[in-house]
Amino acid sequence: MPTDFRHTRFLKSAAELTDLPPNAGREVAFAGRSNAGKSSALNAITGVNGLARVSKTPGRTQLINLFVLDADRRLVDLPGYGYAKVPAAVREQWGRLMEDYFQYRQVLAGLVLVMDIRHPLTEFDQRMLAWCGPLGLPVLVLLTKADKLTRNHANQARQAVSRQLADLPVQVEVFSAVSGQGVDVAREVIDGWLTA
Ligand code: GDP
Repeated sequence: MPTDFRHTRFLKSAAELTDLPPNAGREVAFAGRSNAGKSSALNAITGVNGLARVSKTPGRTQLINLFVLDADRRLVDLPGYGYAKVPAAVREQWGRLMEDYFQYRQVLAGLVLVMDIRHPLTEFDQRMLAWCGPLGLPVLVLLTKADKLTRNHANQARQAVSRQLADLPVQVEVFSAVSGQGVDVAREVIDGWLTA
């Protein structure tokens, strides 16, 4: 039976790895530069409105937010950044937290990397991909806010990003939390990672 994402519930926020639940079961993490549309993607994919807070003041939180599907499967909302005004110290702290998370979280089964389709492959995205590459972690890139482009332009953007990431275990999909485009594909991929 496919995963019913509508059962997703908030579990807790973690500021450090020691605050995370035991390294057991399976997790799928979501990452994205601030304002890319990660919270909206999480809400659309789970079908739970308001599960992840759609940010009005981007880039403030440096917390890992955990959501549970059932006893041993979780979705993880990784903190984003992306605004020049974020102090270097905060960015460094973020980098350490992310590196540790990718290195020590054996239960991590895949990463959903959310990018604004009009501004893909930012420095933030490149760092994320650089951490996942050596681990052989599968990545689903969601090019979101696709409703802001014509279908043609969206497909061109997808092809360009796919070409640039051709050497990595990455699947690139066009997505929109507004129109619902790509939501079913994303659910299928995540379901596969959580049940494989
Ligand atoms: P986050 O900071 O990555 O979690 O981004 P949010 O989900 O908070 O979204 C940032 C802004 O982009 C908000 O104003 C959202 O309403 C808007 N947004 C997010 N996804 C979409 C989308 O698919 N289409 C459109 N048109 N706007 C979106």
